[in-house]
Amino acid sequence: MWISFNRACILLVLLVIAGFAATGRAQATEQTLSVHWEELTSADFNAAIQRAHGTCLLPFGILEKHGPHLPLGTDLLNVRYASLHAAEKNYALVFPEYYFGQIFEARHEPGTVAYSPELQLSLLHETTDEMARNGCKKILIVNGHGGNEALLPYFAQTQLAKPRDYVVYIFDARTPPPVKGAPQEKSTIDLHAGEGETAKMMIARPDLVHQDRAPSESGADQHRLNLPAGVYTGIWWYARFPDHYAGDGAVATKALGKYQMDWWIDSITKTIAAVKADNESLKLQNEFYDEANHPLDTKQ
Ligand SMILES: [Zn+2]
Repeated sequence: MWISFNRACILLVLLVIAGFAATGRAQATEQTLSVHWEELTSADFNAAIQRAHGTCLLPFGILEKHGPHLPLGTDLLNVRYASLHAAEKNYALVFPEYYFGQIFEARHEPGTVAYSPELQLSLLHETTDEMARNGCKKILIVNGHGGNEALLPYFAQTQLAKPRDYVVYIFDARTPPPVKGAPQEKSTIDLHAGEGETAKMMIARPDLVHQDRAPSESGADQHRLNLPAGVYTGIWWYARFPDHYAGDGAVATKALGKYQMDWWIDSITKTIAAVKADNESLKLQNEFYDEANHPLDTKQ
């Protein structure tokens, strides 16, 4: 059947429009790509890895008591709020909820989930291996939990045990250094569920803060151990803070929370930029793995 030239032109235009629409349906544009790993389609994941230049965030929290006034997931809720906002400012992919860290010292409190030491390490290794297999060649672990502060540098050191084609970076700062004129904390001690953490929750999830309950327990240091400086024992935390509360959440304010959260988001954003710009770590890792295979050939 012959169709007129005009009809042919209209048909062509319609086909082109349909083609564009189909492409749009198959793949999101760069700007609309979610930073949430679990929200992407498989095809969009591919595009997201390209856009992120292989840079992925693993916000790391825990399930533990947070004084009498904050939710069990406080660390994860706060660190994900900061990480997701940072990843939106400088695009990076954010791994789903991860709370499989070190928390033996709160096993006596309801709601704490404490996995075995072996599982903590092997799950973290398998998680970063799987992230890397999916294109995350730069993995930035953003720590939201004080109890992970020994685990994470140890985990990073174990990267050198066998060759890996990716680099693990750890960002572990949650509180800004004191700055003149900026909102300051009033508390003399603020180690867990205290002023800073409560203030940040007032930004991340204000609906979960029960500040009126904060004074119902003491977060003061009980000083129940007297060991010389430089001596470490695992029971130190329980000795000082048996109720797993260290500070005073009652004095927290939203203004302090905004200041601390903005600083945290900004710091993570800058770290993403530094990680993206780092081309040396992987090169040096590979050089090291190679030399470690034949140490007698290493130049003296
Ligand atoms: Zn916490």
